[in-house]
Amino acid sequence: MKFDIFLLRSIIDIAIVSFVIYRILILLVGTRAVQLVKGVMMLIILYFIASFLRMRLLTWFLNRSLFALGFAIPIVFQPELRKMLEELGKGKFYLLKPKMSEDEATMRVQQIAGALSYLKAHKIGALLVFQQGVGLGEYSQTAIHLNARITQELLISIFWKNNPLHDGAVILDKYNIIAGGCILPVADAPDISRWYGTRHRAALGISQVSDAIVFIVSEERGEVSLAVKGRLSKNIKDFQVEGILTHYFVGEPVITDWKSRLREFLKLFWVRNNNQQDSGGLVK
Ligand code: ATP
Ligand code: MG
Repeated sequence: MKFDIFLLRSIIDIAIVSFVIYRILILLVGTRAVQLVKGVMMLIILYFIASFLRMRLLTWFLNRSLFALGFAIPIVFQPELRKMLEELGKGKFYLLKPKMSEDEATMRVQQIAGALSYLKAHKIGALLVFQQGVGLGEYSQTAIHLNARITQELLISIFWKNNPLHDGAVILDKYNIIAGGCILPVADAPDISRWYGTRHRAALGISQVSDAIVFIVSEERGEVSLAVKGRLSKNIKDFQVEGILTHYFVGEPVITDWKSRLREFLKLFWVRNNNQQDSGGLVK
């Protein structure tokens, strides 16, 4: 009995610490602090190797460096740390939002798909970034804050020529249009076709540093492309846009009867195979 309580306590203990570390990592990914975490990890590994091999001078040097970093990090990363503590205070750190109902999801999918289709047909350039687990506050906080309901009309208006917000990207989550006019990191992709300019490279850039799903409307070609995990899939069809968005909002296609499910599955299967051939040589 004693053993059981001990085991249970340890499990809860480990689970809480793992969750906290996981949330901290999620907050860090996509910010400049990631490089620093990698650097510190390298130093710690080197320190253990050096002390294992009894290299006294190197051990002493690394020990002192890590000690000094303990003071330097809070000063250099004061804005990031403050943001993290603020989010903790607001409860964002641990609160999970309720699952979205199918009706709500379908409505949002239709609004966004409708906007993309309109922008494509009228060759209006656009960049839509759908935030997932990795926070994109670093990019939305420096832009124009909107926190608005997702509607087709608003999305079209944002990218309308001469609108002060039309330059840059819109960042959305499952509930709101968070911000407009966001400047994204441009991808360093030398092997991408030279026909793709900064809009597509910015989409690739944000998809490399986060788990965001990015739709690009090209004003030159009047086509929609998709950037996910540093890969670009060009010329995405309307039904594919709907499929991807539905997956984003509810985690699975909003189809209830088995015939439609089968049809959708075959369609996606066919599209995926075609796309792999299509975009294979585009981006590594
Ligand atoms: P298109 O096919 O629409 O012409 P493109 O990939 O060729 O797209 P550009 O023609 O260079 O790209 O598009 C320029 C536009 O891309 C800018 O007006 C701006 O709205 C957007 N853009 C460029 N760089 C960024 C960036 N770093 N972050 C967000 N948006 C950007
Ligand atoms: Mg261009």
